[in-house]
Amino acid sequence: MKIEIISGLNRKAPAAILLSAEGLRILLDAGGELESDKALWQVPADIDAVLLSHDHTDHIAGLNRLPRDVPVYCSKVTAQALPVGHNVQCIDIRGRFRIGGITVTTGSCGHAYGGVWFHLDIAGGVFYSGDISMESALFHFDSPPPARIALVDASYGLYDIPQQQQLDRLRHYLLQPSLCPVPPSGRAVELALLRVRDNQANIAMDESCRTMMEQMSHQNDGSLQASVVAELQSLTQILPLFSTEAPLVLASDPDGMSGMAGILRERNDFHHRTLFTGHLNQYAHQQWLSGEVDFCRWNVHPTLSCLKKLVAMLSCQYFAPLFTPLNSPAQWQQELQCEIITHPTFEIELCQ
Ligand SMILES: [Zn+2]
Repeated sequence: MKIEIISGLNRKAPAAILLSAEGLRILLDAGGELESDKALWQVPADIDAVLLSHDHTDHIAGLNRLPRDVPVYCSKVTAQALPVGHNVQCIDIRGRFRIGGITVTTGSCGHAYGGVWFHLDIAGGVFYSGDISMESALFHFDSPPPARIALVDASYGLYDIPQQQQLDRLRHYLLQPSLCPVPPSGRAVELALLRVRDNQANIAMDESCRTMMEQMSHQNDGSLQASVVAELQSLTQILPLFSTEAPLVLASDPDGMSGMAGILRERNDFHHRTLFTGHLNQYAHQQWLSGEVDFCRWNVHPTLSCLKKLVAMLSCQYFAPLFTPLNSPAQWQQELQCEIITHPTFEIELCQ
């Protein structure tokens, strides 16, 4: 069995991993670039199947470079975000299906609506996380079965500040009128939920965020915490119409440049302070350094403590920290107590 991390190792980069085994070539995610000036990853030939973890750009936006007849396995919610014409095979959030002789198990990843992790029953188990979070109040996280090899979202590196602590910092920023550029399928709804629980329900949500929240309130596909659905239903009832006067404006896109967030920031009569809570692209990072915008991380990826919990669940021998610079593999090894995959190509003999 061979694993090639085509993109996603050693930097915050689009996800694209090729697994070759049992005569099959399976692509795990097909991400698009987060930075406009970066070269695109090379599409491998003869792909038999694509597995998509969730609907964020850096996991799906490279799909349009692949042949349209290749079967694409993803959840219904993820499928909504794909360009038309692909050979989509809808899968359950918590389920099992087969590709040739390989059984693939899925579970909720705790990071996005309709988001899943994948477990492939080969070589003692291969776990691919996509993006995961174990701290979300909105999304459910399913414990995966054991796997010998783990390919895991480590976007935050060795960072280890719990979400509860980050939320206290965030509340401080929200004392002033703020515009948060957010992805509709994730943080938008969770931020709204936090504010309502804080009795601060005067929130403006742009249409794409609101539509997503309404869909969540009607349809828990298994990726949401069961307890929040009733809260979301009442939130859709009480949420005021969109107004730029609201002290907290939640608007897409998360880069703060396109979508409603981009439009509002261009307007001369809109003075809310821009508060980023997710990944800062180079441009946003510059703005933050110059004091033009604020940044307070909302944990949507695992902290080091969460990664340690995950390693204990998986009992893995090999661990590839994805989407992060790998400056100190020895420290990773010491923290996680498993062999760290630092090379983009990894091969292992299958037991006969
Ligand atoms: Zn994501």
